[in-house]
Amino acid sequence: CGIVGFTGAAQAAPILLDGLAKLEYRGYDSAGLAVQNAAGKIEVVKAKGRLKVLHEMTDGGNAVPGSCGIGHTRWATHGEPSVVNAHPHYSRDQKIAVVHNGIIENYLEIKERLVNRGYTFVSQTDTEVVAQLLDYYYTGESAGDALDAISRMMLHVRGSYALGILFADQPGTLYAVRKDSPLIVGQCENGSIIASDVPALLKYTRTVYYIDNLEIARLTPDSIEFFNIDKEPVSHETTTIEWDA
Ligand code: GLU
Repeated sequence: CGIVGFTGAAQAAPILLDGLAKLEYRGYDSAGLAVQNAAGKIEVVKAKGRLKVLHEMTDGGNAVPGSCGIGHTRWATHGEPSVVNAHPHYSRDQKIAVVHNGIIENYLEIKERLVNRGYTFVSQTDTEVVAQLLDYYYTGESAGDALDAISRMMLHVRGSYALGILFADQPGTLYAVRKDSPLIVGQCENGSIIASDVPALLKYTRTVYYIDNLEIARLTPDSIEFFNIDKEPVSHETTTIEWDA
C-alpha cells in the first residue's frame, strides 16, 4: 500500500525504512526492501507484520548496504499476507525486482502464458507477473532495453499500478511507472527519490514531479527523465511543496 525508492549518494535502506514509516497511515500487513549494491547485485528482505520487524531484521537498514533501492508496505489483494507474498517480487536470479501498489486484473492469463514458456512462480500475488513479464521482454524482444520492456509490459497488463523497478544490470538506475495509483518523484540534494505520497519525501526534498498516468520515470542519482508509453521523452515542471506533514 506504500512505495518508496531511492538512488543517490547515501545508503538507501535507512531512507526506505524512514519513508515507509511515514506511509504507515495507509495501512499494511507486510513490508519489504530490495537494495542494489554498486556491482548491481539486488538483495531482498521481507517481513510479515509491523515495519518494526523489518527494521530489526536489517539493523535499521545497515545490514543491506547499497545506495539504490525500493521499499514496500503491502495491503494484500491477491494472496494471503505472508513473507513469500510480501514485495519486492523478482524474476529468476533476482535480475529484476518490483514493488507494486494496485491490482493487475489479467494476472492469471499472463501467468499461464509465462508458465507455458518455462517461467516458475513462487507467490500467489498478481504482482509477480510484472517481474516475470519484464524478464520475458528484457531477455527477449527488448534485448536489454529497460524502457522498451517496461512499455511492452504496460501494454499487456490491465488494472491499476504504481511500480518501482530495479534491473541488476543497471546499477543505480531506478524506474517508476504508474496507472491509476499514486506515485510522485522528488529531486533531493544527494539523490532522486520516489514515493506514494508527499509525507515520505518531505524530510529529503520539497521539489517534486507528478508522474502522469501511463508514464515512465527513469531516475539516477543526478537525473530524472520522463517518457510516455511510446518511449518518447516528455517534460514536467517541478512543484514545490509548501505545507508541512
Ligand atoms: N495487489 C498487490 C498484492 O496483493 C499489491 C497490493 C498493494 O497495493 O499493497 O500483493
